[in-house]
Parts: sequence; C-alpha cells; structure tokens
Amino acid sequence: MARLRDDLFRAFRLAKAEELRRLLGAEAYARAGAWYWRCGLCGRRLRGLRALERHAAVKHPREYREAAARALVAVRLRFGGLPRWFPEAHAASPAGRG
Ligand SMILES: [Zn+2]
Repeated sequence: MARLRDDLFRAFRLAKAEELRRLLGAEAYARAGAWYWRCGLCGRRLRGLRALERHAAVKHPREYREAAARALVAVRLRFGGLPRWFPEAHAASPAGRG
C-alpha cells in the first residue's frame, strides 16, 4: 500500500503543479543555475515549484483550491477512484509532504 500511496501523491502533486501553472499563468525560467517561476497574476518571482505552490496558497487561494480540486479529479480518473485513506484535505494543503 505504501507504493500506491507514493504513486498517488506523486501523481497528485504533478497534476496540481500543472493546473497551478496554468491557472496562475506562471512562467519558468532559469537564472544562475536555478529555476525560478514568475507568477502570472502578480508578477512575483519565486524560486522553485514549491515556492510557487506556497505563494499561490497564500496569495491566490481561489486559484490554489481550484488547482487542487482539478488535480484530485484528474488523479481520481487516472486511478479509477481514490482510496478512503487518501487524505484530500492534507493533499490539498501546500504543507503536504513530498
Ligand atoms: Zn502571485
């Protein structure tokens, strides 16, 4: 079950990041060997996808919740449903582990 759990969370994280990028209109660019993101809504520059995610959760909660909700749907479709133990509330928070 640990394996499925990892797969689920990975799939969810990827799907959420993808939706988030789209909803925020975020663009990635490399500078000085690091990846940065520019938030398309407020222009804020963020280092790393994690930072973009946290930024969205704090500054653009509507878009963030939307991205999390869409990611859940995508993962549910892909895995043919979500197990009861998949903690949606936890997965939808930027503090989610991974
Ligand atoms: Zn922003």
